Amino acid sequence: MKTNIILMGPPGAGKGTQAKLIIAAYKLPHISTGDMFREAMKNETPLGLKAKSYIDQGHLVPDDVTIGIVEERLNQDDCKGGFLLDGFPRTIPQAEALDKMMEKMHRSIDLVIDVETPKEELIRRISGRRVCKACGAPYHVDTMKPKVDGVCDICGGELIQRKDDNVSALTTRLEHYEHETKPLLDYYANKGNLVTVDGSKEKDDLFLDVSSLIRGE
Ligand code: ADP
Ligand code: ZN
Repeated sequence: MKTNIILMGPPGAGKGTQAKLIIAAYKLPHISTGDMFREAMKNETPLGLKAKSYIDQGHLVPDDVTIGIVEERLNQDDCKGGFLLDGFPRTIPQAEALDKMMEKMHRSIDLVIDVETPKEELIRRISGRRVCKACGAPYHVDTMKPKVDGVCDICGGELIQRKDDNVSALTTRLEHYEHETKPLLDYYANKGNLVTVDGSKEKDDLFLDVSSLIRGE
């Protein structure tokens, strides 16, 4: 089984949804920089206050800040047996910093999953996306409705629209994806551990593909 895994893809590709399925099935700690930033913003910590202006407008949080929180997280005990990185790295300097961290830990990334999704689909998904305010679980107003309107199936929390899920912030996020994140595909393809999956598939079908990659089949 692959245990040191990166999940990549544009905003709206369904990374968060796949991440939830992966961590439940394979018991890996879920390291989502987006979730870490949102938690920090909710608690109004210094990190949260710093990240907020970038995130709300759809910009990337500066590399030094992002790299710092990931390094701290990867050094925690629960990551010893592996991890699922979701939304990190997103820039070449972040990927280089991650390589250094891995070297220090005498480990290496053994699978990079790129969830490829057409742009029209990303826009459709993000504009209808709702997330649970309490646990972060994702929903969609047309395609992934909760059992009870506005209420999270998992924890009963309130479903809200993310502040950066509006057209203007989304356009900026997609631009950052094109310019800063897409070059990472070549970076990992050159290392030989990149696999592309079809993000336009239904989530359970996609999870079957993802699962066989993780199991190394
Ligand atoms: P999405 O993939 O839908 O854009 P995320 O939850 O992964 O959402 O990220 C939300 C926001 O958090 C990003 O738009 C960005 O501002 C910030 N962020 C998350 N991960 C990173 C990262 N690795 N580097 C810089 N900023 C990040
Ligand atoms: Zn919830």
